[in-house]
Amino acid sequence: MSEKYDLIIIGGGPGGLAAGAFAAAKGKRVLVIEKDGWGGTCTHRGCIPTKALLSCSKHFADLKKLKRMGINIKEASVDFAAIKKHQQQIVKVSDLGAQKMLTDAGAEIRQGFGEIISPSEVRFTDSSAKSEIFPARNIMIAWGSAPQVLPGITLSERVMTSDGILNLHTLPSSIIIVGGSVIGVEFATFFVELGAKVTIVEMLDSLLPLEDEECAELLRQELNRLGVVIHTSTSLERLQDTGSSVRMTAQKDGKPMEMSADCALLCTGRKPFFNAEELKKLGIQYSPSGIAVDANMMTNIEGIYAVGDVTGGMMLAHRAMHQARFAAGRICGENDLIYNENVIPSVVYSHPQIARVGCTQKRAEDEGISVEIIRSPYSANIIARADLMGQGFVKAIFHQDKLIGATIVGEDAAELIAPLTLAVCAAMTRKQLRSWVLPHPTLTEILAFLSA
Ligand SMILES: Cc1cc2nc3c(=O)[nH]c(=O)nc-3n(C[C@H](O)[C@H](O)[C@H](O)COP(=O)(O)OP(=O)(O)OC[C@H]3O[C@@H](n4cnc5c(N)ncnc54)[C@H](O)[C@@H]3O)c2cc1C
Repeated sequence: MSEKYDLIIIGGGPGGLAAGAFAAAKGKRVLVIEKDGWGGTCTHRGCIPTKALLSCSKHFADLKKLKRMGINIKEASVDFAAIKKHQQQIVKVSDLGAQKMLTDAGAEIRQGFGEIISPSEVRFTDSSAKSEIFPARNIMIAWGSAPQVLPGITLSERVMTSDGILNLHTLPSSIIIVGGSVIGVEFATFFVELGAKVTIVEMLDSLLPLEDEECAELLRQELNRLGVVIHTSTSLERLQDTGSSVRMTAQKDGKPMEMSADCALLCTGRKPFFNAEELKKLGIQYSPSGIAVDANMMTNIEGIYAVGDVTGGMMLAHRAMHQARFAAGRICGENDLIYNENVIPSVVYSHPQIARVGCTQKRAEDEGISVEIIRSPYSANIIARADLMGQGFVKAIFHQDKLIGATIVGEDAAELIAPLTLAVCAAMTRKQLRSWVLPHPTLTEILAFLSA
């Protein structure tokens, strides 16, 4: 048996990478085991490929604006194979970057399957089925999540989850997207911008139920304007691959509805990815919504930690990374990092984007928190005007003069939320924000109202 590791991490997604790099940089002996691709779901089936695709479709859609700027483009067309090549290249860069991040920090990495066989031992099995047992002082589970498929639905060449759709080689001329949450809305944006006929079917009465209602409504209008057909209050009954297309039957407001398309994408949520037998054998507490952890990200078994999507809750890469750094900090004896789930920002990368941090207006209303809401429209910002960014606004939420939340809908909302995240994290007051100077002319001046 080899010398004891201070930390063995199973899973090389954002959580595993962040914990591995953190602990190794602090001089700990760290091993990270990954069975598929380095960077996990984020790099191979999530954040990175989708954003590479959305970049392409946005550039294509933005060509229509150029005429108003005096630039005439006669023939623009989509080369889907080249778009896919761009996607693959960006994924490769991200995968290599993930490996480099770990090895530069001094972590050991192994490609293969990791299994916890006791609270201090991990069995590693490589692709040739060769196994080795490694002893560890601490073990971290960073197994991630997987798409959730509705009961009664069979996946096929034309009925796919987000994993499958990312491997499409031809642009469908029509697609039914089941689920109007973040992933569904992002794919709808991509396909409609490239010219596909897109239909979203959502069981609830609005898209993006977790987002600010006004922001979600503005996005719905924009998707409609682009041509996306949205059926809310519609529940899927049957989805059938006919061999050449898909046929869907659903109930909308109690009435039957039928439609066909080239393919269907299921965006009906994700579930933590775990082997229940392994957890039961070790006595680790879990539920269908995730592995249970305490405030230090430790499971009920001393020395076994769990981070990221496998713990349930907000399934976001930066949340996984922060949980992981926080837990690795505890393992390294550092207690200065703070983990506060309430100040983790989230972004919907549609066009326009929606980004939010902290408390929403709805949450404040539901919890009876008295708030002052201040808005700033994109139309009042000169860079947004010059770049023909269209509609959007920032909504800042103050409680007793402190900034407790913000939501933005509009172009580059993902970037604009960063300074607001800092301000919400620091619970900055109006008085403190008044000393904030923003460069002119910039889109960030849309936040100038905070210092007025
Ligand atoms: C389409 C899509 C778009 C997304 N877009 C965004 C976005 O824009 N921003 C954002 O923040 N989040 C986004 N996410 C979510 C994000 O990808 C996840 O929250 C994030 O990847 C979770 O990180 P993780 O480390 O917990 O798990 P994962 O990234 O899932 O990584 C877990 C890794 O563990 C490995 N593993 C599991 N079991 C074992 C084992 N026994 N042995 C060895 N290896 C194992 C898996 O192979 C996997 O690589 C998106 C997700 C999807 C599906």
